[in-house]
Amino acid sequence: MSEGHTDGEQAGSGTAGTPRLTVFRGDITRCQVDAIVTAANEALAGGGGVDGAVHAAAGPRLLEASRAIGHCPTGGAVITPAFGLPSRWVIHAVGPIWRGGRAGEPEQLAATYRSILARADEVGAVSIAVPAISTGVYGFPPEPAARIAVTTLSETPTMVGEITLVAFDPLTADLYRRLLQPDQ
Ligand code: ADP
Repeated sequence: MSEGHTDGEQAGSGTAGTPRLTVFRGDITRCQVDAIVTAANEALAGGGGVDGAVHAAAGPRLLEASRAIGHCPTGGAVITPAFGLPSRWVIHAVGPIWRGGRAGEPEQLAATYRSILARADEVGAVSIAVPAISTGVYGFPPEPAARIAVTTLSETPTMVGEITLVAFDPLTADLYRRLLQPDQ
């Protein structure tokens, strides 16, 4: 469960634990957290969907900063300042393009969520807001995507204490709420 984590090298204090997950339905650029996550492409070139909204709200320096990094493989994430946004950092996370589900997409999506937590831990971000990676243009079906998001974010050791799952549509919000409150 803790592969890839080097305990001693995290910027935050305390010990890795289990974050609290909550659901927010709305625009991620309004979230007042240490780091907001955007669904980027491998070229970090900006795009539509949540990435378009994040770049529009952050201003042009965000594109300059992500272009300077230049590339991020699928399953990975990179971090930059947040410029005009209320948060301190933007984590640019690259989820898989859905190709029918047998090309490793579920594992890649889980890797993307682990990479998000790794980048947050490196800078000591303790509150993050995360969109439903890959469920827009990249076509990942919402139900398995929500399950992978909740499972991975709640089972990966991290110093992040507060994770806001941001759903842009009511279906995704409902999926998250059911997964977080399975008795209802
Ligand atoms: P991907 O290319 O990874 O599929 P998209 O940006 O197309 O990324 O979609 C990812 C998710 O982000 C979708 O569920 C979409 O509805 C949602 N989304 C779009 N705009 C926003 C926004 N401003 N805030 C939060 N989520 C958003």
